[in-house]
Amino acid sequence: MQEIQSTVDGTNKEIYSKENIVEMLEMPLLPLLRKAQKIHLEYFPIDEVQLASLLSIKTGSCPEDCKYCPQSAHYANKTELQKESLMNTEDVLKKAKIAKENGATRFCMGAAWRKIPKGKQFESILSMVRGVKEMGMEACVTLGTLNKEEAMLLKEAGLDAYNHNIDTSPKFYKKIISTRHFNERLETIKHVIDAKISVCSGGIIGMGESIEDRAEMLSILANLDPYPESVPINALVPVKGTPLEHRDIIDPLELVRMIAAARISMPKAKIRLSAGRSNLSKEAQALCFLAGANSIFYGEKLLTTQNNDTQADKDLLKNLFGIAYRTNH
Ligand code: SF4
Repeated sequence: MQEIQSTVDGTNKEIYSKENIVEMLEMPLLPLLRKAQKIHLEYFPIDEVQLASLLSIKTGSCPEDCKYCPQSAHYANKTELQKESLMNTEDVLKKAKIAKENGATRFCMGAAWRKIPKGKQFESILSMVRGVKEMGMEACVTLGTLNKEEAMLLKEAGLDAYNHNIDTSPKFYKKIISTRHFNERLETIKHVIDAKISVCSGGIIGMGESIEDRAEMLSILANLDPYPESVPINALVPVKGTPLEHRDIIDPLELVRMIAAARISMPKAKIRLSAGRSNLSKEAQALCFLAGANSIFYGEKLLTTQNNDTQADKDLLKNLFGIAYRTNH
């Protein structure tokens, strides 16, 4: 049984503890799917899916040591990643225009930094955000740790959302990242919330974590006030040269369960089927949408790992949502 709590906007929400979410993740799959689907239909139209396009605007040489990430400088001599310095604004906006023409409604820009550099580079980021907004798309960035002032400046430039994943539970986090603390993530998220920018935050499964770690991660997100506007659920893509390169690809049904639990515990959030989608069959993707996913990353690359073919995605969406499948904002 969940508790009810009042939120900052004066409404009530159900509180999902780690134990509540473990119960969900261990439910038989079909009752879980039916429950998630019922909640999904209370809050979203049946045929709506957000197409978000993601561009790496600065690639590699990141000082953090996230064990899943080929962009970390710690594994640079073992991965095959091509490093690239910050792209210029004009080139980024050309990519944004192409993404828009292909149907994307949100353009996400990711830079492999521990924190945003000051000066010219930050100014460039602000002009990229303004440029994406002028095209009529939502602008989202993921730039690492952020302070209060930087969050306010991004808001003034028109930023809609800031991605800052918490990845996993606080306990398991230490096994995956040693260069920063879990609480730093929550501090940045707080600055983003205070600046009235939407939070995009989710996690990764398939790194060797337990069901309890997965449940705790979702419980922490669901208990943020407000909970994230969008929640990317990623399945590890083991990349050669990273410490997690030999991990097995996760069973797709585990991803389906995570999506369902995220949908139930954060009913109004966009639940984004993110990294790992290229390892899913069409049938598994259909189950993810049934479980409550209503957003995907669209475009052939996800920062540095391969994503699904754009035409194959268009065909799949047409097949699942109908000829006139709708995108939303
Ligand atoms: S996940 Fe982000 S913070 Fe971690 S190493 Fe990769 S780019 Fe850096």
